[in-house]
Amino acid sequence: MKCKKCGGKAVINMRQHNMGLCKDDFIQWLQEQTQRHIEKQKMFTLAEKVLVAVSGGKDSLALWDILVTLGYQADGLYIALGIDEGIGYSAESQRLTEAFANARDLKLHIVNLAGEYGTDVPTLAKQTKRGRDKPCSACGLVKRHEMNRIARDFGYDVLATGHNLDDEAATLFSNTLQWNGDYLLRQAPVLEERNGLARKVKPLFRFYEREMAAYALLRGIEYIYDECPFAEGSTSTYYKELLNQLENQSPGAKQHFYTKFLAAKKKGLFAESTVEIIPELHLCPKCGQLTSARAECSFCKMMERVQKK
Ligand code: SF4
Ligand SMILES: [Zn+2]
Ligand SMILES: [Zn+2]
Repeated sequence: MKCKKCGGKAVINMRQHNMGLCKDDFIQWLQEQTQRHIEKQKMFTLAEKVLVAVSGGKDSLALWDILVTLGYQADGLYIALGIDEGIGYSAESQRLTEAFANARDLKLHIVNLAGEYGTDVPTLAKQTKRGRDKPCSACGLVKRHEMNRIARDFGYDVLATGHNLDDEAATLFSNTLQWNGDYLLRQAPVLEERNGLARKVKPLFRFYEREMAAYALLRGIEYIYDECPFAEGSTSTYYKELLNQLENQSPGAKQHFYTKFLAAKKKGLFAESTVEIIPELHLCPKCGQLTSARAECSFCKMMERVQKK
């Protein structure tokens, strides 16, 4: 297969775009497209400070690489969750994230749950109601809380995550299966700043997972190949497999499913329910973040319960 731009040998074929590209043209194309999406969706400008949530995986490290290459002021945030499960998952992902930042002289914030709160995600999951099956609910709560905290404390304008189109399509599929109106309303590549929480953006929302893997590989980014051990057997992994089967039969199906959803929403598919019911918020007396609870927020409550034990 030939590169559509220069006629050289293509290293990737993107069937949904009916386009093959060589290494250099693919890297350039992906960076330019990201820039286009950032501008079109009004994600952020060169003058704003961006905090990139990095996990040591291909998507978040590739995102950081792209933003820095495009000239944005992008610092990283790594949250050490203390997930080991016999493969040293967190230790290895932290090592790779630090190596990435050091090699490029980038600023990286590290939040260590053990040092900061004296616990880790598997312990939180075991000791609270949140982790009967998997620790993902406790883990999600920790990540959201700590991302918001670092963004607030260090004055970042925007929080960027490495969600790709496969992630977004799987989430959309899950929300649609349950007709989860509130989540569908809030699923978007940009969530505006609200109640003092930084704006949240997903600059990779239009790229397939395999494109991000190819980008990381071609850019020589060393990332953790293993998924988090708790991701195995999760419903989102299952939905991704289903969507990939659909994609194999009908190239572009994944992309259409997600982008047509965004377009339909813009046209007012959910017009009747666009008046979002925003719960009354209070300041958590412990951490100072906004919460719908009357007393401490769910993060602080979870930490307290674990620390008591
Ligand atoms: S899969 Fe792992 S990293 Fe992801 S939410 Fe679950 S526990 Fe956290
Ligand atoms: Zn080319
Ligand atoms: Zn709190």
